[in-house]
Amino acid sequence: MSSVTQLGYLGIGVSDLVAWERFATQTLGLQNNGHDADGTLFLKMDEYHHRFALHTNGSDDVMYVGWEVANEQALQALSARLQAAGVKVTPGSAELAGARRVVELITFNDPNGIATEIFYGPLVNFDAPFASPRAISGFETGTQGLGHIVLGVDDLDDSLHFYRDVLGMRISDFIQLSGVAGGRRMAFFHCNPRHHSLAFMAMPKTSKRLRHFMLQVRALDDVGVTYFLCQDQGVPVVRGMGRHTNDHMVSFYMQSPSGFEVEYGWGARVVDDSTWQVQQHTRGSIWGHRPPSAQPAPQPAVARV
Ligand code: FE
Repeated sequence: MSSVTQLGYLGIGVSDLVAWERFATQTLGLQNNGHDADGTLFLKMDEYHHRFALHTNGSDDVMYVGWEVANEQALQALSARLQAAGVKVTPGSAELAGARRVVELITFNDPNGIATEIFYGPLVNFDAPFASPRAISGFETGTQGLGHIVLGVDDLDDSLHFYRDVLGMRISDFIQLSGVAGGRRMAFFHCNPRHHSLAFMAMPKTSKRLRHFMLQVRALDDVGVTYFLCQDQGVPVVRGMGRHTNDHMVSFYMQSPSGFEVEYGWGARVVDDSTWQVQQHTRGSIWGHRPPSAQPAPQPAVARV
């Protein structure tokens, strides 16, 4: 079955583009790759022209999600499957393809009304390699895509059916946070060796759709340095260092200028579809990921070596 192959790009609507530019470059280490004619800010993290496009629409939420496929045949196959599933698919205009810096795309809404795009042929610039404004080792992207997103959806089963049976993604695992018998359930999906490119849970419609996006760096030191940089820069750390049960990522979560979180991590395990079997967990973390309020108060000073 044909499938999307990676999370290619993310369009985010923001209210404070100046704060975002500073946060993205000085905290996350993404590269400013210039503005489009309408003011859209492009952020680069590898050879792609951009992986993030920030639009000043004030929503402070995901604006569109771009899933990549290999070529035109794969695009047509997925377009046909979407239409067979009753989804209204619109071919992207040449103008839109130009704005996204891709050869061709289609647009549609996922079951939650989230604007979704499938494209092939991203503009890549091997002549102008990624150069982070920070001293970091770089981001784990390539065939694993830009990272992962976690969305709040209306109905977990509807979205599960759509992303697995229509877009062709595979379930990695579930996290049943209040035990196997009930409570909040999260579903995690992969479409390449990255453990998950997408995860979601049912949330009230009033919440933001985008709960967090994750960037994976190539060295544990980059995570540690960025963790303390957040403290120096006054960027709120929402969950401290920890390691996840399912993808084994060592990470922490900071608050973006839009309010939703950004996970910054290293060391995730990868999925091999020839051997992977769906798993379930009842905790999100092996250790850590505590909110700052749950961290113990400092103890009285003792003699230090
Ligand atoms: Fe995550």
